[in-house]
Amino acid sequence: MKNIYSNIYSFNKKSYKKTIKALKKGNIVSLPTETVYGLAGNAYSQKSINKIFNLKKRPSYNPLIIHYHDLKKTYNDIVLNKYFLKLYKKFCPGPLTFILKKNKNSRVVSSATANLRTIAIRFPNNRKIRAILKILDFPLAMPSANISSSLSPVTAYDVYEEFKNKVKIIINGGKSKVGIESTVIDLTEKPKILRPGIISSQQIKNCLKVNFSKRKSKIKSPGMLKKHYSPGIPIILGKKPSNDNYAFIVYGKKFKNKKNYFNLSKKADLTEAAANLYKTMRKIKKLGFKKIFVTKIPNIGAGIAINDRLTRASR
Ligand code: AMP
Ligand code: MG
Repeated sequence: MKNIYSNIYSFNKKSYKKTIKALKKGNIVSLPTETVYGLAGNAYSQKSINKIFNLKKRPSYNPLIIHYHDLKKTYNDIVLNKYFLKLYKKFCPGPLTFILKKNKNSRVVSSATANLRTIAIRFPNNRKIRAILKILDFPLAMPSANISSSLSPVTAYDVYEEFKNKVKIIINGGKSKVGIESTVIDLTEKPKILRPGIISSQQIKNCLKVNFSKRKSKIKSPGMLKKHYSPGIPIILGKKPSNDNYAFIVYGKKFKNKKNYFNLSKKADLTEAAANLYKTMRKIKKLGFKKIFVTKIPNIGAGIAINDRLTRASR
């Protein structure tokens, strides 16, 4: 069914077929995942990959994550690795991205992986995108559906705000459950977390029973760009605003209900707070506030991922 946004579709047989057809033709669509909404194209098609980089205005040195339905579909594109297999069993499909060595025979186009010898893969856990990935005979290259360096979208309407009608199909999957990007782990050498997420390093350590590497990563990544995940207005961390004209992002029940206060989680649940982070920053921006102050967020569990995004947004 179409609604007032002519390119936002609810997920049904008709929109499913339309999406598959568009992807097979090399076109780009926006799909919901459990983390954030993605901008998806055929990872084996140079034309599709060019379109993704152009639409997002993404620098060509920033590689894309390649999305698969299941392990079998990856065999020709990756070099298998014992840590990967362990983590796959425990966490996939789910919000975890693996950096692996790329298979020499891989058909994933070189520019999708920024001409690196590595490849980032993920198995998203969302019924709609899994139905699409299952039927395709190619994986989907899929970065977040936002203009490079701005906030990731967590609803179909956020995607519309970013690209208007430039993306012809946006599948509406409601609000993304996790609400922040996947955890990224590099497994090409001793395991190392490149980007924290809702699956914590402790959970991964418990599964692998191995210590992580402290080495500095040589791999350039968008998550390591100076400014990223930004709402486009200044963000000041760990401080209260000097007046009520500024927005204040708070956390926990000790804060009052005030017009300029935005609580990420009244019950002080860090997972809930992560899910509300981008939604809240987008809302504040739309309301016209000129600055955002943020209270201190506990740096444990999902709080580590929240603080990572806030720090990058505040630079
Ligand atoms: P994003 O698409 O914004 O969610 O970011 C993807 C993350 O995975 C970034 O930190 C990328 O640099 C990293 N990444 C993607 N592909 C590769 C690759 N081939 N090698 C190393 N890191 C990668
Ligand atoms: Mg992104």
